[in-house]
Amino acid sequence: MRRVSVFGATGSIGQSTLDLIGRAPEAYHVVALTGGRNVKNLAEDARRLNAEIAVTGYDACLPALKEALAGSGIEAAAGEQALLEAADRPTDWTMSAIFGAAGLAPGLRSLRHGGTLALANKESLVTAGPLLLSEAAKHGAKVLPVDSEHSAVFQALVGEDIAHVERVIITASGGALRSWPKEKLATATVADASAHPNWDMGQRITIDSASMFNKAMELIEAKEFFGFRPDQIEVLVHPQSLVHALVGFNDGALMAHVGPSDMRHAIGYALNWPERAHLPVERLDLAKIGQLDFSAPDFERWPALTLAHHVMERGGLSGTIFNAAKETALDLFIAGEIGFQDMARLVERVLQKFWAEEPSATNGHNNAVIPLENTLEYDQIARIRAREIAPELTAG
Ligand code: NAD
Ligand code: MG
Repeated sequence: MRRVSVFGATGSIGQSTLDLIGRAPEAYHVVALTGGRNVKNLAEDARRLNAEIAVTGYDACLPALKEALAGSGIEAAAGEQALLEAADRPTDWTMSAIFGAAGLAPGLRSLRHGGTLALANKESLVTAGPLLLSEAAKHGAKVLPVDSEHSAVFQALVGEDIAHVERVIITASGGALRSWPKEKLATATVADASAHPNWDMGQRITIDSASMFNKAMELIEAKEFFGFRPDQIEVLVHPQSLVHALVGFNDGALMAHVGPSDMRHAIGYALNWPERAHLPVERLDLAKIGQLDFSAPDFERWPALTLAHHVMERGGLSGTIFNAAKETALDLFIAGEIGFQDMARLVERVLQKFWAEEPSATNGHNNAVIPLENTLEYDQIARIRAREIAPELTAG
């Protein structure tokens, strides 16, 4: 039996992961499941899959979790420290699917016992790519991509020499507002931005898709994970979300990965790697689909993409600041405090502030490993700066 843990088990990726694990209960021993405030579901899943321990990220949720697990023999715990202790329990495979920079520390910690970390949490790579990968190398742990585009690139590279790669193209659906005229974007509400045309995902990543911040993060993720140069990584708008990525080689070949928009494919690939196994996803009927469309991204409509390129060129703690400012901007947008387009404006202002005031921390350290304490410190400062600067945006 393989020992598995799922961090962020109650979320969209977490639930898809449990769906796959739950189909073959004889093959897995579930060690830890973690979640947030949704302790009822967390406890139900822990009972159904007979987990060793269930952990909520929030201390205040512990009594409810304990009550929901009463009589089951399953341990209950709460808080950031408990998440790290759960990550210390040895596993063969761990899913990192907490949303945001909060997923960094538990994922990093789980690398210490080797095994495989299936990384849905792209923020880990954006915030601390070199740290995560060096920690994995140090402990002989394997990191596998779960983001659909990066899983697609990873699959297209099987049996290939990465030195022969000229370019990598990741596709973007364009998100909920792709057909809106640019002039109208300023008026987009949270509800408008939360309706993804193709993927069924958590609310935050759905809004990030509409603003293209999700793709911006994925550019940085591709650079960090595979080591491509920023100028080798392109975005292509593809409204059907069936081609997930393409890898271009030095002989002109483009290897495209085509599959249904169902995250259980990428999760299942990481779960079964290096093998392939049957997965319960739709089989595409391309004759019926008939047509696949592609177009160049509009950098004016989606300034997040340009920001990501600047972040990749600068390096250092720029990714940490970018992610933290983006998470704060998203919180403020969801709270109705800033507009849809203010998110990119705010992230840009925060980045510019750090670039001007702390050039050494945000430049010239490309691929240098920055310790977790420094990373988390800058993450916190960037969030504070973003909240300080936000009122200036609405004041005009
Ligand atoms: P989600 O919001 O649906 O779920 C997030 C999970 O993290 C939940 O279990 C929640 O309880 C937990 N969580 C959130 N904040 C926490 C905190 N502070 N402490 C402890 N737990 C916390 O998110 P999701 O859509 O499943 O995305 C998870 C990760 O996967 C993100 O990094 C996202 O970018 C990435 N991802 C998601 C998709 C997708 O289709 N949803 C695709 C590619 C990558
Ligand atoms: Mg993706």
